[in-house]
Amino acid sequence: MASEPMVLVVEDEPAQREVLAYNIRAEGFQVTTAESGDEALIAVRETHPDVIILDWMLPHVSGIEVCRQLKTAADTNRIPIIMLSARSEEVDKVRGLETGADDYITKPYSVAELLARLRTQLRRVRPAAVGERLEYQDIMLDMTEHRVYRSDVALALGPTEFRLLTALMERPGRVWSREQLLDRVWGRDIYVDSRTVDVHVGRLRKALRAAGSDDPIRTVRGAGYALG
Ligand code: CA
Repeated sequence: MASEPMVLVVEDEPAQREVLAYNIRAEGFQVTTAESGDEALIAVRETHPDVIILDWMLPHVSGIEVCRQLKTAADTNRIPIIMLSARSEEVDKVRGLETGADDYITKPYSVAELLARLRTQLRRVRPAAVGERLEYQDIMLDMTEHRVYRSDVALALGPTEFRLLTALMERPGRVWSREQLLDRVWGRDIYVDSRTVDVHVGRLRKALRAAGSDDPIRTVRGAGYALG
C-alpha cells in the first residue's frame, strides 16, 4: 500500500540485512535495501525513504560519509537516520551525532529495541503510519479505527480519500503537488492521471463539508493542494 512508510536498510552483512528487512516488513512497513554506501545514495534518490537505518562500516563509501552527504543536501536532510555501529566507544557516538544522525544503536542490538527506535523516528515524520491520532482544527483522524470525525461526526470516506486526508493531516500547511500526492496516495508504480487527484480532492472536500461549514483544503494555483 502506498501510504505505508518506506524504510531503507543499508547493511553490507547479508544475514543482518535480511533479518532487519524481514522484521521491518513484519511491522507492516515497506523496505528497500542497499549493500554499500554508493548503493544507499542511489536508493535514497529512487525510493525517497521515510527513515534510513545505516550501518557505520560499509565498503567504499562509509556510513558516516553517506550520513554527512544526506544531511547536507537540502532535499534529503530531513530524512531521519539511525546509525548502527559495532563500536561502542563514546567518541564514536559523538562522531555519529555530529554527522547529523538522529539516533545511534550499538551492535549487537536487539531487534525489538531497533524497531522501537524506528517507530520513534517514524512518529516524527509519518505520525499516521504508527497508529496515531491526527488532529487538525475540528477534524480528527484515528488510524487505529481507520475513521475520520469532524466536530465528532463520523465521516464516510472511501479508502483513497482516507489516504489523501492522512497525507494532508500529517503535514498541515505543506503544499503538495499532484505528483507528490500521486506518489503518496496511489504509489509510485501505478500510472494515474494527475486529474484523478483533483477528482478525489473534490470528493474529500464534499465529505468534509458535509460535517462542517468551511473547506479546510486550499487549492494553491499552479502548485497543488494544502491543508489550511
Ligand atoms: Ca558493516
